[in-house]
Amino acid sequence: MFIQKFTFNPFQENTYILYTDTKEGVIIDAGCQTLEERNLLFQFVEEKELKITHLLNTHCHLDHVFGNFFCKKKYNVPLYAHQNEVPVLNFCPQSAQMYGFRPYDHLDKIDIFIDEKQEILVGNEVLKILFVPGHAPGHLAFWHEKDNFVINGDVLFKGSVGRTDFPLCSHADLMNSIKNVLFLLPDDCKVYSGHGSETTIGYEKKYNPYLV
Ligand SMILES: [Zn+2]
Repeated sequence: MFIQKFTFNPFQENTYILYTDTKEGVIIDAGCQTLEERNLLFQFVEEKELKITHLLNTHCHLDHVFGNFFCKKKYNVPLYAHQNEVPVLNFCPQSAQMYGFRPYDHLDKIDIFIDEKQEILVGNEVLKILFVPGHAPGHLAFWHEKDNFVINGDVLFKGSVGRTDFPLCSHADLMNSIKNVLFLLPDDCKVYSGHGSETTIGYEKKYNPYLV
């Protein structure tokens, strides 16, 4: 599985495209806000001749959904996320206003609810779904066991953890998700986060000041 990372919008959010050698791909957390950012993503998909099969959200905070409407229309794919993210998604237009953004093309509906009992098939590759609430009530992570990496959104960062001072957050749930879900992954499992650079499970177990 190949991983392409983009960093988009004023929140420096990481959007990922995972794709296979058979040219199927999924977009995770489409944060592309401006025309230029959307063109970057579009050009990459064109260049690699990918068939986008899923639009996935780890969670539905504003900075992770700016590009959902664009991607859904462009690639005619449903939006997949956890059911608990419905109120989070519904809050986005208000959140945009609070941050002083102009109204944006908000995609207001999760098309297909997914949870940890399911898997996502990308071509012949399997993404396992982990339920890791806390930073958001329906936060998911997408784990590719074979290649030993996880796309974990805003749960665990290099040297930090997700904020829990937003509505519907729970610090206790976040800690539980990290310690009892993410930390069960192999120590050399590579972690791709919603902001900042990559890390590994083992590194964070050892050095993350919020967790040691
Ligand atoms: Zn977030």
